[in-house]
Amino acid sequence: MKTLQNLLLDQLEDIYYAEKQLVRALPKMAKAATHGDLKQAFQSHLKETEGHVTKVEKAFKALGEKATARKCDAIVGLIKEADEMASDHKGCPTINAALIAAAQKVEHYEIATYGSLREWAEMVGNDDAADILQEILDEEKAADDTLTELARAHSNPAANSENESKEKGNGPTTIRRRGVRPVASRLGR
Ligand code: ZN
Ligand code: FE
Ligand code: FE
Repeated sequence: MKTLQNLLLDQLEDIYYAEKQLVRALPKMAKAATHGDLKQAFQSHLKETEGHVTKVEKAFKALGEKATARKCDAIVGLIKEADEMASDHKGCPTINAALIAAAQKVEHYEIATYGSLREWAEMVGNDDAADILQEILDEEKAADDTLTELARAHSNPAANSENESKEKGNGPTTIRRRGVRPVASRLGR
């Protein structure tokens, strides 16, 4: 009979594999992005993702187990689709919108996993593991929010990198940012 502790460890092994794959995939996505803000967002999430690998190792330790990766078929599929979307839209004004969509699918998968893991860690009474998992969850949610803002600001082909200078005008970019802080302020400019 499997216990909640078994389920927690199984899924921690799954996300450990996923994070390691993402450390390899994010530089390719940064390279494929043609918008500076998006490139920067991928690069900064790469740094965070490297941190997630380390944090997941700490969560294993808090649970008294050795860090082990178990193949996650979902992340393999999501990364494969991201590669396909990037090559399908290469050289097109839709490239950044395609990359953002692919990246958000990944973030949502991670958010779902870390949400469950955090709950289970609490249920088995391991507050140290729960705290670490909450930290990662918060970073995944923040990354997803940044991507949403970038999508609103830069997905419209009429307002893409080639005519960035027009962004301060009355173009679609301005209209589509409903009550969201400008991207530049989120990115610390
Ligand atoms: Zn992550
Ligand atoms: Fe998985
Ligand atoms: Fe992530």
